[in-house]
Amino acid sequence: MLNSDTPQTFATAVNCMDGRVQTSVMVFAKARFGVDYVDMVTEAGAVANINEGVRRHVEISVQAHSSKGIVVAAHADCAGNPISDDEQKEQCREAARILKSDWPEMEVISIWEPLDGHLEILEY
Ligand SMILES: [Zn+2]
Repeated sequence: MLNSDTPQTFATAVNCMDGRVQTSVMVFAKARFGVDYVDMVTEAGAVANINEGVRRHVEISVQAHSSKGIVVAAHADCAGNPISDDEQKEQCREAARILKSDWPEMEVISIWEPLDGHLEILEY
């Protein structure tokens, strides 16, 4: 049980708002970075547009919560970004490159969620 004396650790996830991909991405980020919480920055089809709003939220997570790392995720059957899986994966890689250039000291991981729970790490 965490209390106010217990250090709380955070990671950051830039993800779609789709309810089907919240838990898997959060579980992945918690395990990957060994943190208590994941700050979820969500937009419909987030990887298609890493805009100022997304960056501002990531900045809050990085600065105020001392985030241990950033996950950026896209998924199959995205209503907010209805293009092919391959095009989405390329956008996800590019989103990771953008976030990495914003925060070069942070580990940024690009992941694909095929909706079967088996997340794929995308090299970029
Ligand atoms: Zn989506």
